[in-house]
Amino acid sequence: MVEYSPPVALPETSASAWVRVVLDVPIPGPFDYRCTFPVTSGMRVIVPFGRRKLIGMVVGLPDEPAYDPKLIKNVEAVLADIEPMPEHWLRFAQFAAEYYQRPLGEVVLPALPLPLRSVSSYQGKRSGDGPVARLDLKRAPVIKAVSASEVPVLNEAQQGAVDAIVCAESFKAFLLYGVTGSGKTEVYLHAAAQALERGKRVLMLVPEINLTPQFEQSLRARLEPVAGVGGVAVLHSGLSDGERLRAWLRVQRGQARIVLGTRLAIFAPMHDVGLIVVDEEHDPSYKQQDGLRYSARDLAIWRAHDLGVPVVLGSATPSLESWVHAERGHYQRLDLPARARAVTLPSVRLVDTRRLKMDHGMSPQLLNAMRARLDNKEQVLVFLNRRGYAPALHCASCGWVSQCPRCTTFTVLHRTTPGRHQLHCHHCGYQQRVPSACPDCGDQDLQPMGRGTQRIEEHLAELFPEARIARIDADSTRKKGSAQALFASVHAGEVDILVGTQMVAKGHDFANLGLVGVLNADAMLFSQDFRAPERLFAQLMQVSGRAGRHTGHGEVIVQTGYPEQPVYQALLRHDYAGFARHSMQERESAALPPFSHQALLSAEARDLNVALDFLQSARASALEWMTQQQSTEMITLYDPVPLRIVRVDNMCRAQLLLESTHRPALQSLLRNWLPELNDLPEARKVRWQLEVDPLEI
Ligand code: ADP
Ligand code: ZN
Ligand code: ZN
Repeated sequence: MVEYSPPVALPETSASAWVRVVLDVPIPGPFDYRCTFPVTSGMRVIVPFGRRKLIGMVVGLPDEPAYDPKLIKNVEAVLADIEPMPEHWLRFAQFAAEYYQRPLGEVVLPALPLPLRSVSSYQGKRSGDGPVARLDLKRAPVIKAVSASEVPVLNEAQQGAVDAIVCAESFKAFLLYGVTGSGKTEVYLHAAAQALERGKRVLMLVPEINLTPQFEQSLRARLEPVAGVGGVAVLHSGLSDGERLRAWLRVQRGQARIVLGTRLAIFAPMHDVGLIVVDEEHDPSYKQQDGLRYSARDLAIWRAHDLGVPVVLGSATPSLESWVHAERGHYQRLDLPARARAVTLPSVRLVDTRRLKMDHGMSPQLLNAMRARLDNKEQVLVFLNRRGYAPALHCASCGWVSQCPRCTTFTVLHRTTPGRHQLHCHHCGYQQRVPSACPDCGDQDLQPMGRGTQRIEEHLAELFPEARIARIDADSTRKKGSAQALFASVHAGEVDILVGTQMVAKGHDFANLGLVGVLNADAMLFSQDFRAPERLFAQLMQVSGRAGRHTGHGEVIVQTGYPEQPVYQALLRHDYAGFARHSMQERESAALPPFSHQALLSAEARDLNVALDFLQSARASALEWMTQQQSTEMITLYDPVPLRIVRVDNMCRAQLLLESTHRPALQSLLRNWLPELNDLPEARKVRWQLEVDPLEI
């Protein structure tokens, strides 16, 4: 573990001093160097590493190096173009590194914009009077003011929530539990305005890049009068390196007083934070799925606690983790029980598809309801969480199904241009021409199997020739800005029927949307993941919440073959609390999260047995440590198992699940176990990684 020395400015002499540096390299570190220039913790330096030169960050100034001084190399340059990263930020990064069991350098450096961690940015930039390099940081572009928008009068529930938040003088976690359309955004805006007035800064996290433009607009319109023009900075992974650098610098220099961003913004180098908001806190997008597999929501709690400020988690369908915290009194629940504009929630209808004759997967009930809404000049949303034309191509005479040669999955039929199709693998990106005949029996009559958004869109165009149809999914929004343009045209009323995947389910405040149709929800019902019902319920509540937000007589039609399932019954009554109660009993009796804590070791190799062997050895080594510590009772080690989709891109995948009701016991095992894993002889034959608090199992 790295000890932080408080930042000290060294005298400008050539007397050598030691610096401890973290680097974004696979070897854990930290690494000691000799530094003859003034330097403090939180500054970046250019150092030699092997044959390369890398940018690292100074995290300590030890009295003695950790290894033989003769082996220690010199810092080549100190980068003094930005203020050193503050101590609280380093503390935060240190926590994330320890909790998620990754080297500190893998947290600290990726959190910086690319130009600030690439040696190439500094080539030839050494200034004449010393080894201190600077990047020419261009001036920020001029930002135009937006016109201020009206502030609605808060209803009683909203006002109560705002009051509770602004009264919190130190750390306090709030769970803002408000039905869809209850005006949670207004609560954030009011609480944020008050924090700004007290001279504080605000960090707001949203789950999706696509939600940032709408949010940014309202933030700027409402808060720039307090925060000043340019007071809002947006950070997400869709920005170019230059855009991200400029926004990040405005945050780091304290010019931006509000930071709006996706999960990565939790690492924003903010000063004087007065409030942290996590909107749609239940959303799985807060979990990073590679590298440092962090949960931005969980880190937000830690950061707020560390900074001594309130944090607001908002959702209509809170994660069971947060719900349990509220039940136990760790978080204070703030309820917004009714919609802010329309008094009523949409009515939900379950259409039992078992006895129905369907038209391209759509029931007569749904099609009739669509017709009525369109006649009434209202918009309709058809939700299908499956992109592409059809999930597979299939031969009716012999049963052949299109399959990816590199993965154990079907290849998905996609329409590339009108009338032309291709097969795509959604797991490895493999693309293939559609065969003209069945590869197995030669039959030329190959048929699409099932349907995706493209096929629904195509069929709706035939059924409703007058309607203007738009499709929003990962395929239709690949080009930068195209998602924003599509959403804008829906908001502008230029679209009658919107077909979309979960991209359209979240957050958007569509004014004229009357009906939501949900196709093929059952696909998620019988997943092996114990969180699948929770996720399905949240998604259905979310997408239902797009209906009737301004008019009040919205309707949701869910097509299902299992209407009696608890998920659907709870949806019918908009009963999150009932659903949560039911799920919590299940989780508690099975000792699943949030009643236990998990970690997942996964491994992949060309040969499944190699991956499983590694996990077996890893398991044995964990067991040995636990026996020594006499903690075998406290942690459950499951047997290594192959993943459901076992082969992806020719690599076979398996995992080992660890579970404990005692978080410190699990953390202590992980800390001691991880360094051992690299020394296992099997480790050389696999790629492995560890995930703490995995969301998907
Ligand atoms: P949520 O985030 O809870 O789903 P929003 O914050 O998007 O809900 O609010 C839903 C709609 O209600 C928005 O159009 C918003 O402008 C409006 N609204 C929110 N609070 C009020 C209020 N107090 N008076 C009138 N309209 C409101
Ligand atoms: Zn065939
Ligand atoms: Zn594939």
